[in-house]
Amino acid sequence: MTFRALCNDCLRAPSYETEAEQMAAHGEDVFCQCGGQLCACDFCLATLALLETGERGALNGRLQGPIVDWSAEGGRDEQRPDFR
Ligand SMILES: [Zn+2]
Ligand SMILES: [Zn+2]
Repeated sequence: MTFRALCNDCLRAPSYETEAEQMAAHGEDVFCQCGGQLCACDFCLATLALLETGERGALNGRLQGPIVDWSAEGGRDEQRPDFR
């Protein structure tokens, strides 16, 4: 089983092998590589599930701004200037 969290800034979604690691991220003991806050609440995990099914844009209003491209490792498009 994999435990996930979602960065509220860049939308990177790291995977963890244990629930303890996931809770460390959720509890702000560990931060995203962008410095953002990781969250593993039901809302964020549901948002992550939408992203992984290929949903883009503002995700039915879940996001403040629409996204065009996303990956679990790279997060949202605008936040990775070295991608293109
Ligand atoms: Zn981040
Ligand atoms: Zn959350």
